[in-house]
Amino acid sequence: MPEGRYWQQVNNIPVNIKREHMLKVIAQIASDSLVVPPRERSTRYCLVHEERHYPPKFVVRMANVDVNGEELWTFHGGGETDTFCEKRQFKVMVHGGAPH
Ligand SMILES: [Zn+2]
Repeated sequence: MPEGRYWQQVNNIPVNIKREHMLKVIAQIASDSLVVPPRERSTRYCLVHEERHYPPKFVVRMANVDVNGEELWTFHGGGETDTFCEKRQFKVMVHGGAPH
């Protein structure tokens, strides 16, 4: 396992992504200054913030672009992303339905 840098990771997600970075991405989506691409929309898991639903993986990926300057493709949705979000005091729920 490489050391230094941000490779102090939990389940492939850099731990230096904090709640504030995720809130920034959420605010951008909420204000339509950042559009969630169709393939990134929630199909199963939703991060719920102020009664609006967001795709957890996309939020984490965009937060990583902000914090570490690159997109992350090596992590998976579901359990690890949910745990990561919940540790940052976000509510994640299984929702499903049409991508949103
Ligand atoms: Zn939802």
